[in-house]
Amino acid sequence: MTPMMKQYHEAKAACGDALLFFRMGDFYELFLDDAKVASKILGLTLTSRDKDAENPTAMAGFPHHQLDSYLSKLIRAGYRAAVCEQVEDPKQAKGLVRREITRLVTPGTLTDDGLLDPREANYLAAVYLVSPKKKSKDNAEPMVGIAWAELSSGRFEAGVFQKSRIEDELARIGPAEVIYREDDARFSPDTTAPWSWTSRPAWSFAEDASRDALCKQFSVHNLEGFGFEDTDAPAIRAAGAVLTYLQETQPSGLDHFRSISAHHRSGVLQIDASTRHSLEITRTIRSGSREGSLLGVIDRTCSPMGARLLADWIAAPLIDHERIESRLDAVSELVGDARLRGDIRETLRHTFDLTRLMARIATGRTGPRDLQQVARTLANLPELKARLTDRKSERLGFVEAHLHLCPELRSHLERALADDCPLSASDGNFIREGFDEQLDALRVLARGGKEWIAAYQQKQMESTGIQNLKVGYNKVFGYFLEVTNSQRDKIPDNFIRKQTLKNCERFITPELKEYEEKVLSADDQASSREQILFQNLRQQTHQHLPILQEVAMVIAELDVLAALAEIAAVRKWVRPQLTDDSILRIEAGRHPVLDVTLPQGEFVPNDCVQSPETGMILLITGPNMAGKSTYIRQIALITLMAQAGSFVPAEKATIGIADRIFARVGASDELSRGQSTFMVEMVETARILNTATSRSLVILDEIGRGTSTYDGLSLAWAITEHLHEQIGCRTLFATHYHELTQLEETLPRVANLNVAVKEWNDEVVFLHRIVSGGADKSYGIHVARLAGIPKTVNERAKDVLAQLEVDHRDSLDRPTISAAGDSTSKQNHYQLTLFGIADHPLLEDIQKLDINSMTPIEAMQFLQAAKQAL
Ligand code: ADP
Repeated sequence: MTPMMKQYHEAKAACGDALLFFRMGDFYELFLDDAKVASKILGLTLTSRDKDAENPTAMAGFPHHQLDSYLSKLIRAGYRAAVCEQVEDPKQAKGLVRREITRLVTPGTLTDDGLLDPREANYLAAVYLVSPKKKSKDNAEPMVGIAWAELSSGRFEAGVFQKSRIEDELARIGPAEVIYREDDARFSPDTTAPWSWTSRPAWSFAEDASRDALCKQFSVHNLEGFGFEDTDAPAIRAAGAVLTYLQETQPSGLDHFRSISAHHRSGVLQIDASTRHSLEITRTIRSGSREGSLLGVIDRTCSPMGARLLADWIAAPLIDHERIESRLDAVSELVGDARLRGDIRETLRHTFDLTRLMARIATGRTGPRDLQQVARTLANLPELKARLTDRKSERLGFVEAHLHLCPELRSHLERALADDCPLSASDGNFIREGFDEQLDALRVLARGGKEWIAAYQQKQMESTGIQNLKVGYNKVFGYFLEVTNSQRDKIPDNFIRKQTLKNCERFITPELKEYEEKVLSADDQASSREQILFQNLRQQTHQHLPILQEVAMVIAELDVLAALAEIAAVRKWVRPQLTDDSILRIEAGRHPVLDVTLPQGEFVPNDCVQSPETGMILLITGPNMAGKSTYIRQIALITLMAQAGSFVPAEKATIGIADRIFARVGASDELSRGQSTFMVEMVETARILNTATSRSLVILDEIGRGTSTYDGLSLAWAITEHLHEQIGCRTLFATHYHELTQLEETLPRVANLNVAVKEWNDEVVFLHRIVSGGADKSYGIHVARLAGIPKTVNERAKDVLAQLEVDHRDSLDRPTISAAGDSTSKQNHYQLTLFGIADHPLLEDIQKLDINSMTPIEAMQFLQAAKQAL
């Protein structure tokens, strides 16, 4: 093995399962298996290092300046990467260049701007499952500790949850990477989740070590001050695992992690993972992107800090009446004062991402431009503060009080930094002239030295008469005088010969050497002086970390409040009235996403009233495509927005604060996870029935569609009864089972609604208007025509429907349909009524079976064949 490959293998052994990017001159190279993975994921050409050897070493590489884009591709694909740099100048190296791993990049520990989306948080989370107590009498559900942290902001939280909530909580947090205990047999990561999983040794979850590590990080004696109690041990273990992982990947420091908060679920509206998914709160179902989701559509923030906070607010709305009102007060004040709002937003557009800047300063990955951006952000504060004095609402007052201007830091940075600062301190020349005497003197000297050399050349030319005499410079001899062979006889005695080349000779003089010393060392000294000054500035800014983190926090809040006010003003949204009872009264409500995306005036507003007197369970029937789903989702989204502190798209809205929102809508996308649609649907429905309270809001779309008509209808029926009798929560149920409309007669708090449609010239016109009463006809066939189903198929469907309707009316048992094109041939049987018995060919087969003479295998085979025949 060559010494370099030996060095490679040492580095590779130190970086675990991360892919190693090995710097070789102007390239990064990957070897062996890493090269194979990289060639597949990054599309690099796979070559080999020693083509003629018996086992050539696979290799793939790319030019160094492409590092960031390749890293980001790899990280997005869920891999980890280590970057091994040359840590000495190859020209100075004796033998092999020294190399070290300088960065370990994983999905959850990104800080590089190039790899992060400024508008999205990037969390690292950890889960720790508590072992169930042996022989525990009560069948309490096992608990899980979850911690999450964001390296690029210093935010850190942890809490204890029921095990069944792992998925919901992770969906709320939306981490990029989740770590778990490697030997935890009870925990199997869901590999279809959109984050990457990293297993970690058991010791990193140890309780005492975790407590110690956290206390040391935050310089405290215990964690009670952060709100943790005795029962929070699992959260602390998870937090410890997060911290040690961060420490390993960030050798340069984590000073910006100054506290951790104990997460208490009781303060937030509970939204489970599938509800979050199907309501498209922060991501769309189809593409998984922010664009087109509720968040994407309502986001009018001006800074990335605000964008990330808005995502938090929308992902975790509140249930505390007072807190919601204080957000609404502030939004309302900003809605009412367009100038104030405009001024604030204009100033916010010129602020930089202070949160991430401070994190970079704390982790040592900072340059002059970052410090300059801190200064420019500070320069905006006095104006913001002035605009916010004497505001009525409590939140604006809070923001004002916490906008610390830090005038000394600001003026210090402004005096120190030049107008145009480079990204990296090693580029030099970023300290303003007049800031540091010593630096100025060195700069004069360096400049003066160069001038002296130019003058010296002139002087020597004149005194020797050598017209083409030149002063040159190289690394070996430093400055020298060069004389061509033709002028050789004019060389004076004081020139000391250093080198003879083909056409010329090179000389030095004592004077030249003296100045060389001064110039070179002045340049060198100036740049090291600049580095020292930079480190001081960084240090001084770093000392303001706590205060600047606070400033960043309130800037983000102000941005969110102003953004919510902006969209409310532009879209004419109203302030919701919140109440503490379980009612809902919305006048002319609109779907927040369609309200913004459809052309103005095209969306048809609808009312919604839910109360014990008028009905808590609204059954909405109507043809496909009429607007049932849109209507029930819009109610859920309006409620959610109101509790996040936003105005809502309606003319008037009174909303009883909900404790949970459940949405059970469409299951087609879960099919890819290998569960049957119906199973998924029932698991989710079971959860709703088991966890909803009288304060919850439940929306159900087409429950029971995944099974036979009878099963589905019976289930939908029973579920409605249960919600009515046992839970009594606000429910919106969109269904195509017209039979359910009968429930209105027997259950006092059920009301029927339907979506108005008009038939016109054999066409269906959807009015999208919700009216009371049940729908009486299915317009599916008309919709099929609209969708482009061939005319012949459609005509045939009309026949079948007509016949079904006749049969249905005439007999309550078996409807029969004649086969297409042949009215005399064998008849197909369809199931239609609720209480009839299906006449399926399988029934006959089952009747013929002699179970006593069958082996279990035969029984299985029969079932298999039967299943295939279905
Ligand atoms: P359903 O659930 O009854 O099958 P959807 O709610 O999916 O119907 O709505 C079908 C289409 O009608 C949607 O694409 C939507 O754009 C449009 N739509 C629904 N409600 C409205 C409305 N109130 N105003 C305007 N268009 C609407």
